[in-house]
Amino acid sequence: FLPHLVASMEQVEETYIMVKPDGVQRGLVGDIISRFEKKGFKLTGLKLFQCPKDLAEACCWEFIDDFNLFNIYLQWLQEHYKDLNSKPFFPKLIEYITSGPVVCMAWEGAGVVASARKLIGSTDPLQAEPGTIRGDLAVQTGRNVVHGSDSPENGKREIGLWFKEGELCQWTPAQAQWLRE
Ligand code: UDP
Ligand code: MG
Repeated sequence: FLPHLVASMEQVEETYIMVKPDGVQRGLVGDIISRFEKKGFKLTGLKLFQCPKDLAEACCWEFIDDFNLFNIYLQWLQEHYKDLNSKPFFPKLIEYITSGPVVCMAWEGAGVVASARKLIGSTDPLQAEPGTIRGDLAVQTGRNVVHGSDSPENGKREIGLWFKEGELCQWTPAQAQWLRE
């Protein structure tokens, strides 16, 4: 009864992982998903998302005339990157993230947030260790192929931003009993 109690006390976390447009264009989606899958985390949400073209263009406008159209999406991305929206690189980051389809994912498991950050590697791919996604697959911070939430709170918050109710799936993987004692 004790191990069961210990297992059930482990905090199950969620993280939002996104293959950025460069990862999709370069055909890296399968490789990236595979790393989280093979590690043993549980996929609970998965979709390809394309920022509507007019909104993507609006995000790249230097002079914004349509504030309504622009604001809906920009506010959303500003919320997603709320710690970064006053940084000088923010406009280019928005342009990058909206430049093509992205793959949105929700992953679940004890310790998934920190572990996913390790699997992803440092923000600057040249500093990222070999064996990590960015260390193996990218060369520049502005094209670092993948996003991962930086805290359990942000994991929940970002999944709430990118997924609608009903898009997430609760299930028990058949391998569960072979992953944890
Ligand atoms: N970024 C950038 N230039 C910088 C820092 C960040 O273009 O100097 C981009 C990069 O795509 C990064 C994202 O902004 O992944 C978010 O930055 P953060 O510091 O949160 O890095 P991450 O959590 O993605 O490692
Ligand atoms: Mg971050």
